Amino acid sequence: MNERLYTLIRTLAEKHSISIDDYRYILDNYCIEAADLLRELAVKARKKIYDNSVFVRGLIEISNFCKNDCFYCGIRRSNKNCSRYRLSSDQIIECAEDGYKLGFRTFVLQGGEDAYFTDEILCDLITKLKEKYSDCAVTLSLGERGRESYLRLYNAGADRYLLRHETAMKNHYEKLHPSEMSFQNRMNCLYTLRDIGYQTGCGFMVGSPFQTNEALAQDLKFIETFKPDMCGIGPFIPHNSTPFAAEKVGSLETTCYLLSIIRLIYPSVLLPSTTALGTIHQRGREEGILAGANVVMPNLSPFSVRGKYELYDNKLCTGEESAQCLNELCDRMRAIGYKVVIDRGDIKKSEGKRNLLQRKEK
Ligand code: SAH
Repeated sequence: MNERLYTLIRTLAEKHSISIDDYRYILDNYCIEAADLLRELAVKARKKIYDNSVFVRGLIEISNFCKNDCFYCGIRRSNKNCSRYRLSSDQIIECAEDGYKLGFRTFVLQGGEDAYFTDEILCDLITKLKEKYSDCAVTLSLGERGRESYLRLYNAGADRYLLRHETAMKNHYEKLHPSEMSFQNRMNCLYTLRDIGYQTGCGFMVGSPFQTNEALAQDLKFIETFKPDMCGIGPFIPHNSTPFAAEKVGSLETTCYLLSIIRLIYPSVLLPSTTALGTIHQRGREEGILAGANVVMPNLSPFSVRGKYELYDNKLCTGEESAQCLNELCDRMRAIGYKVVIDRGDIKKSEGKRNLLQRKEK
C-alpha cells in the first residue's frame, strides 16, 4: 500500500472526515492491504462503542405492491411476473408476536409503496404494536411519503425510518429510476424524517448499474455530512424480470471495503450486514460483520409470502436469514466472536448527544 493511501486511512479513522477526492482515491486504489487495515480499524472503532454485540431486527415484508418502477427492483410495478400480496394488520401483529417470543425487540415493517397502507391503517397498526410491545422499537421502510404522513406515523409511535438514498449523484439516480421519480424528493424525505425526530437510515446498493467510484465517493461524503443513525448497504443483484436483468452482481469485497469505511466515518452508526450480502456469498453475513457491520435483519414475514418479496433473484429467506432460525444465526455469530443480544439496539451516541435520542414531542 502506498504512503498516501495509508495516511488517508489513518486520517479517516482519526478525524472521520476526508475530502471527496480522498474518498475517491481510497476507492480507486482498492487492495487487500488497504481492506485489511480498514477492517482492523473499523472493528476497533465499533468494539469501543458496541463491544462484540450484534443487534437483530425482525423484518416483516408487509406488501409487494408498488406504485414505483425502479429499474433495479423485482417488485417494480411493471413486473407482471410478480405475484402480489399484502399482509393484513392482524397478520403483521402475529409476525411480531412470533418475533417477540424469539427475542426480537425491533420490528421493521418494509414494503413497496402500496396505497392500501394509508396513514390511518398504519397509525392504527403502529399504535397496537407499541401498546403490546412497549419495550420494542418499530422501524418503517415504506418509501417516500409526505411530511404530514411521516409526522402522523411518528406520533403514532414509529421510532425509526429506513429510506436508502440509493445514490447521492443526481445523474446516477436518474439512470436507476424512471423520470417520474425525483432525486431531490428522495433526499428531502430523508431530511424531513430526521427533522421530525426519527432515527433515520439511508443507504445504497454496491455495484448498481452505472455506479462509478465518483458516485460512491459522493455517497460517502453524503453519509459523512448527513450522519444517518443507520446505513443499509448491500450488493446490487439483478432480477430476471427487470431492465437490469443482464447487469453484473455487486462484489462482496467492495461491499466489505465500504462497510469498513462507513464505520470509520461514523463509528456509532447502526450498520447491517444485509440479506443481499448473505445471498451472494455463503459467508457474506459473517464477512459483513467482520468488516464493521453490527446489525442483522432476519426475515419474520409469514412463510406463505416469503418467496414473493423478491427484490432480486434468489433472495435468501431460509436458514440463518429466517427469524425462526435465530439460534443458527447466534451460533454463526458466536463462531466469529460476536454475540447476538436481545435488545432494541438503539444507536449509542457519545455522552453529550445521548439526550437526542429521547422522542421529540410534536
Ligand atoms: N419501498 C421501500 C423499500 C424498498 S426495498 C423504499 O423505497 O425504501 C429496500 C431496498 O432494497 C431498496 O432501497 C434497494 O436499495 C434494495 N434493492 C432493491 N432492488 C435490489 C436489487 N436488485 N439488488 C439489491 N438490492 C436491491
